[in-house]
Amino acid sequence: MSNVTVCVRFRPLSHKERKANGDNVCFKKLDSESFVFKDEREEDVIFSFDKVFYEDAQQSDVYNFLAVPIVSDAINGINGTIITYGQTGAGKTYSMEGPSILHCNEQKTGLVQRVVDELFVCLGSSASTWTVKLSMVEIYLEKVRDLLDLSKDNLQIKESKTQGIYISGATEISILNSSDALENLSQGIANRAVGETQMNLASSRSHCLYIFSVQYGSTSDERVTSGKIILVDLAGSEKVEKTGAEGRVLDEAKTINKSLSALGNVINALTTGKQNHVPFRDSKLTRILQDALGGNSRAALLCCCSPSPSNAPESLSTLRFGTRTKLIKASPKLIPE
Ligand code: ADP
Repeated sequence: MSNVTVCVRFRPLSHKERKANGDNVCFKKLDSESFVFKDEREEDVIFSFDKVFYEDAQQSDVYNFLAVPIVSDAINGINGTIITYGQTGAGKTYSMEGPSILHCNEQKTGLVQRVVDELFVCLGSSASTWTVKLSMVEIYLEKVRDLLDLSKDNLQIKESKTQGIYISGATEISILNSSDALENLSQGIANRAVGETQMNLASSRSHCLYIFSVQYGSTSDERVTSGKIILVDLAGSEKVEKTGAEGRVLDEAKTINKSLSALGNVINALTTGKQNHVPFRDSKLTRILQDALGGNSRAALLCCCSPSPSNAPESLSTLRFGTRTKLIKASPKLIPE
């Protein structure tokens, strides 16, 4: 039993990829959970995951499989995390935000807005009292920046008995409904772009986290439950060599690779039984995700891949990361009694 649901999504071939390689793709579909991966430099490998979304998969398919259980659990006080992983251009942001968070038709709406909509449908239909708060942060060169207040550019991560791991001082905006949420999310995304221009940074080089904190008070027994949903759009996982980076860009790439390899190391420790020595503190990213990967929580990883043979080495590395993540065992707290 794994407590991380791991899925793969192959986006459609881009115009450029089609021009270079025609309709050739790097996989052969076996069924909705497995495929043969073909890389001319390596032997064919069969990969299996909880679900594979091929080019024709809809945003709603991804949402229904990955996110619906996480939203209902958050209301019951179980933290949930959804992470998109993959090289730049593989479809992480498209899966999270859709082509644009504000101007998007229903069919293309991404995970973030769908999570918000479902959350308010569930809460709105209950007679209980509740609050939902939104925070949005970006991790860039190991600094946590508040996307809802750009003056806070080096937030610290703390831990308390009542709140677990939290980002100290991060702006939390109370959200009353879906359109309220959308307005604030758009502001956060716009702030991210402003910060990127100021720092000459591409969004693919930072990790972006959308955090929804839900407090739910049951009217029957006056119990209050708190649950958090964290959606994480990771920086591109591509190797440094491929980007031809030098100078500051190289430093950036190394730091990104460091936090992604810290994530890999945490996953390795969780899957190899070294549960007492999980290096969560090795990066800001893994520290924030500590409760999600190790505690009373549900997590889902969407491995985004280009279908093009030209990106096969990067896709293979993404698929291997997904395969390792699948081996994380359920936290004892989550195993039904
Ligand atoms: P990443 O966030 O991994 O860098 P993007 O999400 O920005 O990649 O995707 C790169 C390009 O591919 C964008 O133009 C995006 O609109 C397009 N794209 C990604 N996934 C899909 C998809 N499932 N369907 C259609 N277009 C997609």
